[in-house]
Amino acid sequence: MAVQDIPAIVSRQRQYFETNATRPVDFRIAQLKALKKAMKEMEPELLAALAKDLGKSDFEGYTSEVGFTYEEINHTIDHVADWARPVRVATPLLHQPSSSRIHAQPKGVTLIIGPWNYPFQLLMSPLVGALGAGNTAVLKASEIAPATAAVIAKLVEKTFKPEYVAYVEGGIPETTELLKQRFDHIFFTGSIPVGKIVMRAAAENLTPVTLELGGKSPCFVDKKVDLKVAARRIVWGKFYNAGQTCVAPDYLLVDKAVKADLMTAMKAQIKEFFGEDPQKSPDYGRIVSDRHFDRLVGMVKAGKVAFGGESDKATRYLAPTVLDDATMADKAMEDEIFGPILPVLTVDDVSHALKLAKQRPNPLACYVFTNDSDTEDRIVEELPFGGGCINNALIHLANPNLPFGGVGESGMGAYHGKDSFDVFSHRKGLVKTSTLVDVKLKYPPYAGRLSLIKKFMR
Ligand code: NAD
Repeated sequence: MAVQDIPAIVSRQRQYFETNATRPVDFRIAQLKALKKAMKEMEPELLAALAKDLGKSDFEGYTSEVGFTYEEINHTIDHVADWARPVRVATPLLHQPSSSRIHAQPKGVTLIIGPWNYPFQLLMSPLVGALGAGNTAVLKASEIAPATAAVIAKLVEKTFKPEYVAYVEGGIPETTELLKQRFDHIFFTGSIPVGKIVMRAAAENLTPVTLELGGKSPCFVDKKVDLKVAARRIVWGKFYNAGQTCVAPDYLLVDKAVKADLMTAMKAQIKEFFGEDPQKSPDYGRIVSDRHFDRLVGMVKAGKVAFGGESDKATRYLAPTVLDDATMADKAMEDEIFGPILPVLTVDDVSHALKLAKQRPNPLACYVFTNDSDTEDRIVEELPFGGGCINNALIHLANPNLPFGGVGESGMGAYHGKDSFDVFSHRKGLVKTSTLVDVKLKYPPYAGRLSLIKKFMR
């Protein structure tokens, strides 16, 4: 689709939305079922595209992209009728006899912009929310995962009319043109700098935005913990999708009492997961582009490699790598790593860990491995972060009952499950008053009424 076609796509969607066709809950459910059916038919193609773009194994492609989206669709189909029902709320005595309710209404024409690291799920999961809430949607996939983008285009074109769900192919010029249009909500997943571009453009039309951004997510390992389990879960969370996960543990803050043992346990775990040579493992991914490969290799060269570090530019392979004796001044500690490199910083205790983590902007996630509830509470209470896990990694984002999103520099707004429905809905507050009785207390002339009104407004 050419750049000059973009204004017409958006205006056709607006006309279509105004026909009210997208509002009935039955229609929404039917569309979600159609999406799932088309995904099932195209599942092999989708998994092959994810393998081509990111070396994703079918297992990771299914669990984190396709199966994950099925679950969001199922959850929405099961609950959307409930979510869409008006909610009755109480009315203050002064305004009786009245009843009050909240109506969730679709916002209208929405724009969803996705990144490359989970190129399918991060576009489709917001789409499920947008359609569940009764909107139309324009989708813009990342140009950096072109094989997946091509399958998404085919899937969307085969399943939906463009006035309902449209797919726009391309990169910066196309997104720039899209951002000039008036949308009723923009849902963006990607980097902090582009998040700022999106928010600036949205301000022109006062369009609400959801920004799902990134950041350096810390992982604290206390001395009171089962180190073998901690190592297994950290290594899994870090090297899933070759570390190209927005909520991957970015760096470790490890209590000095257990640092050496944790390093040994992590080394053994990497071997158990990916074998002696992870390059030969069918379960280990590849770096998405040469630019990111060069960036990551530069980081490895600047650090003290404890294990891993091997790379192959031709296949964009970078071994699961752990950097020892890292400090906050290291290259790997400047920005989000977004690759299979894990710097390990040694700390004295939880206070020290908090002091270091607070030197960086609010992260998207945080992980705490501890059996001590005071330590758990201190990190949960004192460190601002989007969401996270205690004694685990990544899995908070796979629970549709939890809001998923950042805070501060890691983003604004949250989605998944009911929160996705809420993001794409306007909650209209309504009061309905009987015309049979009209209490005069609030009307002029006010003389003599103030003391009485004070009994209601204490
Ligand atoms: P990105 O910001 O470079 O790109 C995201 C989207 O914006 C793409 O569709 C791209 O085409 C578009 N884009 C890029 N430059 C643009 C510009 N100048 N103007 C307009 N549009 C532009 O992000 P990315 O590299 O695809 O993804 C990596 C980032 O995304 C990381 O920071 C990661 O933490 C973050 N991320 C966050 C989440 C989350 O759920 N919070 C999930 C995945 C990735």
